[in-house]
Amino acid sequence: QKFVYDFTEGNKDLKDLLGGKGANLAEMTNLGLPVPPGFTITTEACKVYLASGEEPPALRDEVSAHLDALERKMGKKLGQPDDPLLVSVRSGAKFSMPGMMDTVLNIGLSDDSVAGLAAQAGDERFAWDSYRRLIQMFGKTVLGVDGDLFEEALEDAKRAKGVTVDVDLDAGDLKRLVTEFKDIVAQETGRDFPQEPRQQMDLAVRAVFDSWNGDRAKLYRRQERIPHDLGTAVNVCSMVFGNLGPDSGTGVAFTRDPASGQQGVYGDYLQNAQGEDVVAGIRNTVPLAELERIDKGSYDELMRIMEILENHYLDLCDIEFTIERGKLWMLQTRVGKRTAGAAFRIATQLVDQGLIDEAEALRRVNGAQLAQLMFPRFDEEAADGDAVRKLGRGIAASPGAAVGKAVFDSYTAVKWSRSGEKVILIRRETNPDDLDGMIAAEGILTSRGGKTSHAAVVARGMGKTCVCGAEELEVDTKRRRMTVPGRDGKDGLVIEEGDVISIDGSSGKVYLGEVPVVPSPVVEYFEGRMHAGADDADELVRAVHRIMAYADRVRRLRVRANADNAEDAARARRFGAQGIGLCRTEHMFLGERRELVERLILAHTDEEREAALGALLPLQKDDFVELFEAMDGLPVTVRLLDPPLHEFLPDITELSVRVALAESRKEHNENDLRLLQAVHRLHEQNPMLGLRGVRLGLVIPGLFAMQVRAIAEAAAERRGAKGDPRAEIMIPLVGTVQELEIVREEAEKVIEEVERARGVDLKLTLGTMIELPRAALTAAQIAESADFFSFGTNDLTQTVWGFSRDDVEASFFTAYLEKGIFGVSPFETIDKDGVGSLVRSAAEAGRATRPDLKLGVCGEHGGDPESVHFFHEVGLDYVSCSPFRVPVARLESGRAAA
Ligand code: ADP
Ligand code: MG
Ligand code: MG
Repeated sequence: QKFVYDFTEGNKDLKDLLGGKGANLAEMTNLGLPVPPGFTITTEACKVYLASGEEPPALRDEVSAHLDALERKMGKKLGQPDDPLLVSVRSGAKFSMPGMMDTVLNIGLSDDSVAGLAAQAGDERFAWDSYRRLIQMFGKTVLGVDGDLFEEALEDAKRAKGVTVDVDLDAGDLKRLVTEFKDIVAQETGRDFPQEPRQQMDLAVRAVFDSWNGDRAKLYRRQERIPHDLGTAVNVCSMVFGNLGPDSGTGVAFTRDPASGQQGVYGDYLQNAQGEDVVAGIRNTVPLAELERIDKGSYDELMRIMEILENHYLDLCDIEFTIERGKLWMLQTRVGKRTAGAAFRIATQLVDQGLIDEAEALRRVNGAQLAQLMFPRFDEEAADGDAVRKLGRGIAASPGAAVGKAVFDSYTAVKWSRSGEKVILIRRETNPDDLDGMIAAEGILTSRGGKTSHAAVVARGMGKTCVCGAEELEVDTKRRRMTVPGRDGKDGLVIEEGDVISIDGSSGKVYLGEVPVVPSPVVEYFEGRMHAGADDADELVRAVHRIMAYADRVRRLRVRANADNAEDAARARRFGAQGIGLCRTEHMFLGERRELVERLILAHTDEEREAALGALLPLQKDDFVELFEAMDGLPVTVRLLDPPLHEFLPDITELSVRVALAESRKEHNENDLRLLQAVHRLHEQNPMLGLRGVRLGLVIPGLFAMQVRAIAEAAAERRGAKGDPRAEIMIPLVGTVQELEIVREEAEKVIEEVERARGVDLKLTLGTMIELPRAALTAAQIAESADFFSFGTNDLTQTVWGFSRDDVEASFFTAYLEKGIFGVSPFETIDKDGVGSLVRSAAEAGRATRPDLKLGVCGEHGGDPESVHFFHEVGLDYVSCSPFRVPVARLESGRAAA
């Protein structure tokens, strides 16, 4: 096994082994781009280290061999006193992750070699600046010294000299600072700053490995559903210097605007600076376009390289570069993060440019992005009107409309959001310590930093609304307030913690108070209120329209909706639903009809019961007529009554009190007394495992027959009206084929009766839900009696895991998620190994019995992207989800097939 790869040995497809950064450094090297030479230690080495607590024995020698080769290539040795080779040690996992160890630059510098560096560069200031940066970064990230101690010492040095920026410190100042920094390290760690270059490097590599299991990295992985066992690679890269004076500098760039997808020059540049300075906001950066004026040669070279990269990666790339005395060096590239809207736009732009095909375009977007585009936005008229006070404008860093109470620290954000408050996290700038608060907040507002700042990058990744760099707003986190300057004749004002503000991540505007929101154009388009071909349709709507069309063309899964009234059904249809996969009938028993249900439950005699059922029948029938009309020509699966009866009866405590009060007044309400008896009789310890579903139908004579009759008569009526009703009757909570046989026999009798009376063949089908483990395990038998299966994955998840969904999510799921027992709730994304394997085997067994068995799924999983891919893979015919998720399910079904 090989643990170390030279940059010339890897390529972009080796992300698993070399991490994203390493794989792309190799790719750029092989493209002939100017990348400083170096090598990558693989994720496999990291995994060995994490498992055993020690580096694999072969690693040391391999690193030595690669370091030798690097030294030969560069013509100098690591830390060589008269002319030191310096390197950076950079973490780089498969997915970029905040919380991983920060990069340490200038490794190899020591008390001995700092003079050599100064002599070689002819710049003493530069050498001492590099050395103090090394001790600072190494001290903080490798040795775990509190970074503030260094920051404070640096601030003190600037103050003592009466300057505000680090570039105004001279060699003597920096030399003194180095001494101070070394003292800090000695004091805090009880050891001297390591002078031996190779030891510096080895310690840094190990720190990168260790950071994989840091709290922040773990939290981020859970959030982003990144597996915990990937490990990280480590890149060792020879240094180039952006801090060698005004003809040097460092910057970041995008090949397109990550917010809109537009091609152009996007990025930030900072002269005489190193590494993180650009994103850390220590000095003001200039827009990348200015580089043309500062250093035309390097600018042209950068533009040329950006074009090469776009044409090579066929996608938006982001880039880190450094200019050392007029020479451009590429330090990183990757396919860049983008907003949801830009993802759709870029995918279609690239198709039009002939760079990718439609199937690839479909892979470039996803359901989560589409869902995000369906969020409402601020009502522009209200937002621009005089009634709303505008506080300022920052950079539109991550779209969305967020309203919430102002909070100024992560801790408060988490605390308030736990108690149900919506909050906007306001910071001067964010850093990885703010991650919890960013997750908890509706949106993030910062007063510093650009599109590449931490806040912007992380918020975009999380799909969270973010406005950054709102410079007029003065954020004072210590006093928990933000000062807004006066403008347009209005006085300035102070926003205190708890004041409500609104932020618009699409325009960058910040408002006082709650701005009303309106539906997104994408929803308007799905609703049919906006046409993709119309002149005023924006580019986004056109892009969504095209990509949805690709998806619909290639997908195999059909998409239905869960809907139980005509209105929802009609909306679902507009959103592209191809039928109803689940019509719940329980709401049809609530409201005014509750009384009829009470009568049914309290019935003593057959006559009483039949009278109650007889009263319910026409009401039920009318419900179905409407539904079949809305879904004319498309299948409608109606589930017979499922929930336990007590849900239709008054609350036991309330009723007991009422009866007791009446008794104390010597009143006698016969009905209440009977009701109370019934409530007691029907009371269950575990109602979800009690008298519900098919069990109800078998115990209450005539109940299911009434429902079946209502369906049949509604279908007959629609036929009479020249409609095309396609009803499917679904029996819930079946555990054994015998239950289904009894219900089927009874139902068929009723259907025949209706058919004979009306003189039509209704072609009703009858199937069952598979939502109990026993049903899944005996699917071969159950299929004998079922025309279709619909997997009820909510109940199936509950019963397979033995989790009561209503209870466990609040009680211990957080702990389970934190401990990494599962990366995501099994109620959100199907548990493929457990619940999913039952679905797979039941589908196979059912089809073995009856090859034409129709298979679908209803429940939350039907609209969950990852689950949809799974259902595609196991060969189901359709998924059913809430009307609003239908476009997401269509898109993901297409992606699964593309
Ligand atoms: P991150 O993953 O946080 O971007 P990087 O490893 O890319 O971390 O490095 C942090 C900063 O240091 C970046 O600005 C990068 O360009 C810079 N940097 C990394 N290695 C070198 C190097 N060998 N020479 C000069 N700058 C470097
Ligand atoms: Mg980087
Ligand atoms: Mg169920």
